[in-house]
Formats: sequence, C-alpha cells, structure tokens
Amino acid sequence: MAAGVANTVWDMGEPKTSELMETLASLCKRRGFIFQSSEIYGGLNGFWDYGPLGTELKRNIKDYWWRSMTRLREGVVGLDASIIMHPRIWEASGHTSTFSDLMVDCLLTQRRFRADQIEAQSGTAYFYTGATEPGTGKECKDPFSALIATGKHPGYARELARKFYQLRGLKEPVLEGERSEPVQNTTRYNPENGSLLTEPRAFNLMLKTSVGPVESADNVSYLRPETAQAIFVQFKNVLEVSRQRLPFGICQIGKAFRNEINPRNFTFRSREFEQMELEFFIRPDEAVEAVCGRVAKPASPGHPGKPQPDWGWQLWHQYWVEERLGFYESIGLPRASLVEYWQKPEELAHYARATVDVLYKFPFSKRGPNGELLGEELEGIAARSDFDLSQHQRFAGRPMTVFDEELKAVWPKLDPAKQAELSERFFQHRLKYLLKTGEAPGPAEQSARQDAEALAKGYYIPHVIEPSAGVDRLALALICNAYSQDQAPDEKGKLETRVVMRFHPRIAPIKVAVFPLLKNKPELVQKAGEVRDLLRPWMSVFYDEAGAIGRRYRRQDEAGTPFGVTVDFDTLGEKGPELKDTVTLRDRDTMKQERVKIADLAPRLTALIR
Ligand code: ATP
Repeated sequence: MAAGVANTVWDMGEPKTSELMETLASLCKRRGFIFQSSEIYGGLNGFWDYGPLGTELKRNIKDYWWRSMTRLREGVVGLDASIIMHPRIWEASGHTSTFSDLMVDCLLTQRRFRADQIEAQSGTAYFYTGATEPGTGKECKDPFSALIATGKHPGYARELARKFYQLRGLKEPVLEGERSEPVQNTTRYNPENGSLLTEPRAFNLMLKTSVGPVESADNVSYLRPETAQAIFVQFKNVLEVSRQRLPFGICQIGKAFRNEINPRNFTFRSREFEQMELEFFIRPDEAVEAVCGRVAKPASPGHPGKPQPDWGWQLWHQYWVEERLGFYESIGLPRASLVEYWQKPEELAHYARATVDVLYKFPFSKRGPNGELLGEELEGIAARSDFDLSQHQRFAGRPMTVFDEELKAVWPKLDPAKQAELSERFFQHRLKYLLKTGEAPGPAEQSARQDAEALAKGYYIPHVIEPSAGVDRLALALICNAYSQDQAPDEKGKLETRVVMRFHPRIAPIKVAVFPLLKNKPELVQKAGEVRDLLRPWMSVFYDEAGAIGRRYRRQDEAGTPFGVTVDFDTLGEKGPELKDTVTLRDRDTMKQERVKIADLAPRLTALIR
C-alpha cells in the first residue's frame, strides 16, 4: 500500500461507523455502484438498484462463484428455478409456520423493531396504571411504562407517559398509579426514547402474492424467501438427467424476498436480494461406514484436503467451510476480516447437526468488550441431515430416496453384528425425525423400520451440506473492504488525498481503462481505440479521453479499476522504433507504470483477472 493509507474498515480502532457508512453510501451513489430504489418517488425501504459499476461488480461475484462452485469441480451442476413455486413447498420447508421474526412496536412512535435487535438496558422503570382528564372526565386505563437512567428526574418519565395518554385522546392527562423500580438488562423499552414496547409478536417474513386472475385464499403464493427449496424439489429430476452419483451438488443463484421488519445498514438487510446456494448431497454416515468400513473423522482444524470416499458429514462440512473461506480470500477479503462462527447447540435449527456462519467485520458490526468488530453474516454453511428431502417426501408423497449400488452390493457381506448396529443407528435417526414431525410413536416406528430395511437394500434419502451466501451482502463487504484513501501527487507533484477502491482484479467492475494521452491528436485517439477493441473481447474495458491524464487516473482509482493503459507518442514510435506499439501500464495500487507491448496486454491482463 502507498504511504499514508488509511486502515481498512475492518481493523479501524475507533467506531466511526455512521460517518464511514455515509461516506461509502455517497460514493456508491456518486460512482454508480448502488442507488436507492424508486429514488425519484422518495425511495422504497429495503430495496436497492445497482448502477453501472455495481452491476458489473455483482455480475463478477456471481460469475466467479459459479465458476468456482460448478465449472471447476466434478459433480456440481446448476439449476435456475422459478421464484414463485407451489405454496405447499413452504409448508414442507417450515417457512409457513416458523419463518418469522419477533417484532415489537414503540408505544409512542409506533416504530417497529426486531425484538432480538433491541439492546439490553438498565435504569429505573416508571409504571402508570392509566390517566384521567379532570376537565372532561375522560379516562384511559391502558398501562404504560418508561425507562429512564437511574438518578434522572422522574419528570422525564412523566413527560413520556403524558405523551402516551395524549396519543389516546387525553389533551391534559393526569397520571395515575405511579410506581418505580430499578431494572437490569431489560429489552422491553425503546432504546431511542425509553418508551415501553409492545409484547413481541411473530411476524412471517414471506412476501405474499396471489397467482391468477382471482385474488382468493386458494391463490395465495409466496415470493421465495430462499433459493434452496427449489433445489430440493427438483433434486430427483436433476439427479436423473445429470447421471450423477453421490456425493454431488446442485447450485443456484437467484432472487429471494423477505419482508424484513427493519431493513438497515445500507444493503445489508434488504427485502429483495440475491442468494448463491449449493446443496451438496452426501451418503448418510451409516452408508459410508457400510461401504468403506469406517467413517473418517476430522483430525485437525483447517482444510481436510481432497475429498475421500470415507468422509462422513463432519468432514464434508469442514471441507465446505474451508472451501468457502478460501473463496472469500481469493476475491480479496483478508482472513483477518472474516470470522468463522460455529453456532452454539442452542442456536442450531432442530434438524441441523452443525452450522458455521462466515462473518465479515462490517464497520456497523457489533463490537466486543475490547472494541473489536465481531462481524455480521455473509454466509451460513449448514449440515442439514436428510431433513429437507424427507420433508418433501412426506408432503409431496414422492420418494426422495436414491439407489446406491455399492451399498447394496456390500451390505450382505457385512458381519451381522455390523449390519444390526448400522440398521439400529439409521432406525433411531429416522425415528427421531418422524417423531419431531408429530407422527404418532407407532406409525413412526413402523416407517423408521421400513427406512432401515430399505438401507440394507441400498436405498436412502441423501444428507445435505448447504453453503448459502448472499450476493448483495458480499458486494457490500467488498465495497467496504476496498475503500481506502492515500496520498498521491497531482499534476504538479503536490500531494493530494486519493480515494481508491482496492477491489481484487477478479471482481473489479472494470478491469482496465484505456486512455489516449491527448484527445486532440487523432493518431493517439485512433491507436487507443485499437487497444480498447483488442482488449474488449477479454474483459470489461473503459475508454476515456476527456481531461488531464491525472484526473482520468483518479476517476478510475475511485471506480476500483486495477489497470490503466495509456497510449502516448512513444506508442506511435515517435521517440524511436524500439518503443513503437508499446504502452504504459499503470497499477492502481502501487501507481507504478511500466512499458508493455500492445501484443502482450491481453494475455498478461487476462492472467491477472482470472
Ligand atoms: P440473518 O440472520 O442475517 O437474517 P439468515 O441467517 O436468516 O440471515 P439465511 O437464511 O441463512 O440468512 O440466508 C443465507 C444468506 O442469504 C445470508 O447469509 C445472507 O448473505 C443472505 N441474506 C439473508 N437475508 C438477507 C437480507 N434480508 N438481505 C440481504 N441478504 C440476505
């Protein structure tokens, strides 16, 4: 980095969050990364549009993810499913009944919060049983409470209470039944004004719509809240057509919608966003053990290496956590900016065996006791057992089992004690699942027994590891991470502050800018045009001939363009034939320039941006 470079956002000591986020949001607008949706109508909370640079950035993220998850691997294929699907899917997945957040409303301002996002506070709580208005005889028996700092005059609480009763139609309320008590770590009050909040209520986050010309309860459908379920419901079709055997994966990139209670932190929590999800299907551990004689266990932290046939879910899960961390590093997020957070047992979904969240230290992340950034979720990598496919098997009444020839062949050769042990373990696992779904013990046992018998014949429902990431959150992390300022000399050699978006060349929106040194020299302009056209088939190129060359560099620094190519008089061979058809290639980060043959540009830059 050049001298005087500001710290990256994730290791800044001081919490200057809002200032920094405002700077980033205004840069995003000014440079065309991100605009507020429907801006000329006043905007729509939780929705965002990507401008020219943002669109390229997102496309690069998605392309690179796609390449690294499918094209560069064996056994992972793609899917592009519809956004609106059969509503029963959301019953099977549990979204209809449980995909909700608890919300609370401020009794004074009606502002809505997610209950789990209210910070715990301590102080003195004042309680009122109601109020009357002596002049009119009006009364209100609604209780109210306000929290104020201990030692603060009770007048503050009374003022809030009076406002509350005024909102209920009492112009001059006289408060009744005041009492107070100290409270510790409560989340029942609005941290912004001390007013009591409503009791938490569940709020389903799915966005509803109705399909067809008649709006009725029968036509209710949902905009998908995640892309994953489409993969599960198309699992059998994809498996058949792609002639894959386990382990194999299906991945998808697409829009998802959640009616978030409180969209915030710029694009971090939006109501419309894109996900990149992989469902990686594996054998249940009992099948692995039957075929390989054992299930390998994680030996040490870190990448477990090349996949092996004796891996069970734990090693596959570790593998995907490490692969995904490697992905983030490969597009420029340093390891120190990421947190690998293992969900605690009480945080896990009931069907999940383990979930690791990959967090990025956004400037607005919560801080730990020493002021360090704790990070916010970019991606979750969950070991989801056979829950999802089992649910669709039950709800759709279609088998989601696969046939494993190797397992069928090996089972009869197993020691009977081993057969019994594996059958019993498989039976217990299936029984636990079926009982959780509410099935009565008798039928559940019978079904689980049948599942265990099917295992012995080579049939089972695959288990799944799911790395699920958000495109928009990643774009925001990359923007936060790229932002920096340094000192660079202007035209006259005087140092000035330079804003540089240090995107990794792989995901930078524009890869190279091509400039003729002077606009009014047709030979330079023509040659620069030729260089531009030469590079265009390989990468996104920006051509700029307007203004002083230093200014043109600065504009590209702010756009995060890693390379700049200038066509000058040397290129035309005016200073000697040895420099003819060479250009200067400038590096955004070091600002160093070197002379490069035009013919070498495309291969050289292509190698740097792949
Ligand atoms: P959070 O706890 O932050 O609400 P989540 O755990 O509900 O996220 P998942 O259901 O695991 O998220 O979704 C997978 C990924 O989709 C997340 O890691 C995130 O990158 C992205 N995502 C989820 N909700 C949103 C949102 N409202 N806005 C932008 N991206 C989102």
